[in-house]
Amino acid sequence: MLYLILYLQRRDFGDMTNKSDVLQKIAEAEMVLIGVGEEFDDVRNLKKESTYETGKENLFRSGLGWLLPAYQKLCRERMEDKTYKALCGLAGLVEKKNYFVVATTVNDIVRQVPWREGRLVTPCGGSAVKQCANCCEEGLTPVEPDDIDRLKKLLQEEREKEAFIADVLGRCPRCNAPLILNNVYAENYDEKGYLTQWEQYTRWLQGTLNRRLLILELGVGLQFPSVIRWPFEKVAFFNQKSEFYRVNEKLYQLSDKLKEKGTSISENAIDWLQILC
Ligand SMILES: [Zn+2]
Repeated sequence: MLYLILYLQRRDFGDMTNKSDVLQKIAEAEMVLIGVGEEFDDVRNLKKESTYETGKENLFRSGLGWLLPAYQKLCRERMEDKTYKALCGLAGLVEKKNYFVVATTVNDIVRQVPWREGRLVTPCGGSAVKQCANCCEEGLTPVEPDDIDRLKKLLQEEREKEAFIADVLGRCPRCNAPLILNNVYAENYDEKGYLTQWEQYTRWLQGTLNRRLLILELGVGLQFPSVIRWPFEKVAFFNQKSEFYRVNEKLYQLSDKLKEKGTSISENAIDWLQILC
């Protein structure tokens, strides 16, 4: 019992120290670079539903991985979602700062957060936009409310999905291939969906050189390391005035190069933001 009390006390103390440190660093920073990673898909929560994993495996086995963000969204409707509140809290904390957010989560919630206009890029897509399965030049169109109803129905059906998937989101007017959701799990992912924002991000990033830059890498795993994890490490390493925070439940370790200027926090990023905000 005594050990437990000591452990809890130490933990609380640790959280509080982190909290005031981070708030101080935000106040001091000229620019803030934020990475919102896969932990914001909130798979930890989704897995509480016993059928989640099987449903996900079935999608990928049927070549319908692009349905994953819609499937996750449907499962989330039945549970408490903490991601939106956590991210809105963060947006509030950096409100007056010059910041940019790069997100690898496919949770559409990240796009509903009131970030400053034009300061978010989502290179992995989600379930809000449709593309041609052949990735032809026809381009992208928004998912309409009717599409959402049909997707829900499709995901709730028990029978084989391939047979009637073709028309669930309509057909491409140019090549007549089925329309699918525009995200990284599509076999021919149409990257036009985020390229303009990506260019804006790289321009912003060039302006961070020699500025007091705070880097918050939150819940970013190793699923897409070349989008956030490795480039953020590189920016932290080369910018002498940068501070780097890595928050992750499991993959919180820092490389030797970053040990001196980085802080590693072994917490789930959603939980950590709830303490911080
Ligand atoms: Zn097409």
